[in-house]
Amino acid sequence: MVTFPVLFINLFSMLMMGVVTEVVWRFRDKGGGLQLFIASFCMLFWAVGSFAEMISQSLEMKIFWRNVTQIGVFYTPIASLLFSVRYTGIGNRFHKPLIWIAYSIQSVAILLVMTDHWHHLIRKSVFIVHDPLYETLVVDTTIFAKCLISLNFFYMGLSVCLLILYAITTAPSSRKQVLSVLFGMIIAVGYSLVKVVSNEQFAQLVPISGVFALSALFMLLGIFRYDLLKIAPLAREQVFHFLGEGLVIASSDGTLVEANHAALIMLGSSLQDMEQLLLDEIPQWHAALLEKKEKDFAFYHHQSYFHINLYTIKNKRGTVLGTISLVKDRTEQKQKEDLLLFRAQRDGLTHLYNRQTFIEKVEHQLKHAENPVSLHYFDIDHFKQINDLYGHRGGDQVLQSVGECIRGLLGPTDLAGRLGGEEFAIFRSSGTLEENLQWAEMLRKSIADNVYSFEGNTLCCTVSLGLCISSPVDFDVLYRMADDQMYQAKKAGKNCICSISNT
Ligand code: GH3
Ligand code: MG
Ligand code: MG
Repeated sequence: MVTFPVLFINLFSMLMMGVVTEVVWRFRDKGGGLQLFIASFCMLFWAVGSFAEMISQSLEMKIFWRNVTQIGVFYTPIASLLFSVRYTGIGNRFHKPLIWIAYSIQSVAILLVMTDHWHHLIRKSVFIVHDPLYETLVVDTTIFAKCLISLNFFYMGLSVCLLILYAITTAPSSRKQVLSVLFGMIIAVGYSLVKVVSNEQFAQLVPISGVFALSALFMLLGIFRYDLLKIAPLAREQVFHFLGEGLVIASSDGTLVEANHAALIMLGSSLQDMEQLLLDEIPQWHAALLEKKEKDFAFYHHQSYFHINLYTIKNKRGTVLGTISLVKDRTEQKQKEDLLLFRAQRDGLTHLYNRQTFIEKVEHQLKHAENPVSLHYFDIDHFKQINDLYGHRGGDQVLQSVGECIRGLLGPTDLAGRLGGEEFAIFRSSGTLEENLQWAEMLRKSIADNVYSFEGNTLCCTVSLGLCISSPVDFDVLYRMADDQMYQAKKAGKNCICSISNT
């Protein structure tokens, strides 16, 4: 009755299932590996039992092998469900109770099938159908048995649902792993359904082991091609999603492929949003994605300061396949650094550059200057008197206000510093003598016109200013000339400007 193709399919399938079972055994200590081993072992058991039933001649032997297959029939769904729970991590806290409850129910079901000839709770009648095409055992089951079988479909359906849910939510890089198992499972469930609906006749033409061979193929694909059950890809995915720092993967044409949770929180709720943001507001990042070169850069976005480390993703031949950007929110660190730098470079009272920083910055500009530059150097007149009359706090108030006057008049490239007690300097890299004289006069007047109130008193002060306009020379030379002019202004009666041109 057993034709050569059927024999071939069965033996080949059993061999395949055997290989899968053996391979999965090696991964039994990995997430869900033991349950997958139990599931594949049960499928192997099922396939062997079905084949034995098929080649048996007598009704008794067919019933005996049918009973043996029930071990596979009842344990495969629950092992598959437990594998899905462990593998996806969904409902993991029910894992332990599920093992005990479900395996106990299935064991009772198997026991009832095995002992059916005593109580007939499972089968109403059993007979062999002889057909030119097939010869099969037809079992008419009781309502109770149908309930137990439905439970199997429930377990398998749930297992498939968990894998589908996981396939949707997981990273595309791990999706193929999940899909390979999912297809294997769907084929087995689908076939079992057909078998129930077609009342065994179809099953005789397409043996169960033939179908399991297909499932096995998908599982082998998952194991060998997509590293199913290997800890590294799972760990990589966990790291990808749970890392506090953002990760953004882009293809070689600069298109964003994937971003982890942290990156989405930092830079837009979806990949599309992030892509638009890069184009509109962070062009240097977009350019770096297209350039595909490893580099670091930083930018401000919505008052947050982000730092990017861009790495290239290469295949074994060294071809760049895309990039991975590590995004770090460095706002807090940047604020601290900025504050430290500010304190190191600035005078605490006026917030203008301190002497050392001012000189460094001016020297730097002088190195690159091609046109005449100017130094405005002034000293507050009779400042000792202000201190004597209103105390040092009154004097400090005047110094602060003078600082504010200077800042109010500074151009974007001008540099201003407090060089000593009540001495200030402003470096300007452009303008003629006339223009600089006008600017100096504006500053002198602004300070002189300013009236400060301090503890109910009104204070005011004037300054004597020395201006030097010169072709780029050393700072010391410039400083000496401006200082001379400042003394000239003091000698000339204070509250005035003296200037010199050295162009
Ligand atoms: P002149 O018109 O010739 O410039 O006379 P002056 O009184 O301004 O000159 P002098 O150099 O004699 O006085 C400078 C004073 O500035 C002396 C010092 O106590 C005071 N001073 C220096 N640094 C500070 C400061 O940070 N706060 C205050 N309140 N006073 C300061
Ligand atoms: Mg003074
Ligand atoms: Mg002085």
